[in-house]
Amino acid sequence: PTIFVDEVGITLGNIADAASGAITPTLRIGVTGLSRAGKTIFITALIHNLLSGATLPGFQAMTQGRLIGAQLTEHPDNATPRFAYENHLAALLGTPPTWPESTRRISQVRLTLRYQSDRWLKNRMGLSTLNLDIVDYPGEWLLDLPLLSKSFRQWSDEALDLAQRPNREEEATPFLEALKATDTMAQADETAAETLALAFTQYLRASKQDARALSTLPPGRFLMPGDLEGSPALTFAPLPKPSHAPRSNSLYAMLERRFEAYKTVVIRPFFRDHFARLDRQIVLVDALRALNAGPEAVSDLENALTSVLACYRQGRVNPISRILNRRIDKILFAATKADLLHHTSHAKLEAILNRLVMNATRRARFAGAQTQSLAIAAIRATREGRIKDNGDTLDTIIGTPEQGQVLGDTTYDGETEIALFPGDLPDSPESLFKTDESTPELNFLRFLPPTDLQRSETGEPIFPNIRLDRAIDYLIGDKLQ
Ligand code: GDP
Repeated sequence: PTIFVDEVGITLGNIADAASGAITPTLRIGVTGLSRAGKTIFITALIHNLLSGATLPGFQAMTQGRLIGAQLTEHPDNATPRFAYENHLAALLGTPPTWPESTRRISQVRLTLRYQSDRWLKNRMGLSTLNLDIVDYPGEWLLDLPLLSKSFRQWSDEALDLAQRPNREEEATPFLEALKATDTMAQADETAAETLALAFTQYLRASKQDARALSTLPPGRFLMPGDLEGSPALTFAPLPKPSHAPRSNSLYAMLERRFEAYKTVVIRPFFRDHFARLDRQIVLVDALRALNAGPEAVSDLENALTSVLACYRQGRVNPISRILNRRIDKILFAATKADLLHHTSHAKLEAILNRLVMNATRRARFAGAQTQSLAIAAIRATREGRIKDNGDTLDTIIGTPEQGQVLGDTTYDGETEIALFPGDLPDSPESLFKTDESTPELNFLRFLPPTDLQRSETGEPIFPNIRLDRAIDYLIGDKLQ
């Protein structure tokens, strides 16, 4: 369903031709964020808005009438899976609509945009074309970058130190018990390696469960294996310091070799073949889920974001600076699901986001990239309302919580629409990090996707959004000049 305004005399065929020409400029945008941050929804909504001719008031190339059209075109890179746009859209437009499957591995998709430049000379040469390559990948994979400069011993010490901290006790105990029961100096044994790797993976995954929302320790593929699930490169775990030098046929030596293999066959190729080729990056952050879970989860999210963005650190000490040529010139940080709050709280959400990415931003700017923060909802699942409560007027959001969502004594059935006052975000983001301060009562529920969509002039259903237009303008606007 592509719309092309034909008044300028282009046909769809022309666009495909132009796209295949070597001269068409290409902008590669990475979309990342930790699991369930909203990557799939963001990309699906972005493509759908551009294809369907939705009105995007904050996207200047569109409001100035210079964007002629967009089309999905074939991607030249056959080695990377294609982003399953059509399936995701079908889920969102289904009866009833459902949220599509989330990102589990890297994928990409190419959109070709046709536009009229606002520069006199370029304009004289006719319409311009831009290939927009969108690369979706799990933010967890970025956590692996620091591993490149660590030995197995260093990484093991750090990982075990974290696993032994009191706040992780509940999740880590089975893994630590499994370690105790294993003789790592004994002859290497695949079953023992698998048992340890499984216990370690389960500990990492358990730390991320909804209620705890402790994010995210490397190795990234243990959480998001992509196509590597079960492969030997993922069958290792951190081990305690051996009392004497391990023999080369010991379990210890085998896991150490696998850690090194993970660096060579998993981490390096990802950074070299994908990350290093990005021009721009949007980092999606589900701050609200961390706020729901409390101060520990908030500090943890901040740490994870700082490590995720450590890839922007400069300097010769960083082994990756040889791989990365620091091409990324713009990074957009977006707090997703802003529709779970009334718009009067969006400024506070942006302040929280700024605080969460403060360290990351500093690094990125130092490395020469521009950054911006926005609170967005790529697909808005709620509307706004007001209720009176004991004489107070409360700003609410209205929508249908997903089946099984619980608030107080109520378990929602997935059919009943409610008006919810999710609570007040604090004025100062700092208080969210403190355990001693009375944390504000916040309730963010998951809502079903919107129904009864409005239609564009061409009859396409249009998803409501919050500031998606501003995000698109920041990411690609200047390339359409
Ligand atoms: P990712 O691909 O793992 O980063 O995450 P998804 O894009 O699949 O999003 C995870 C879940 O977050 C979705 O299934 C939705 O429930 C929710 N979600 C994502 N974007 C939005 C949004 O803009 N508004 C609302 N209300 N929920 C969203």
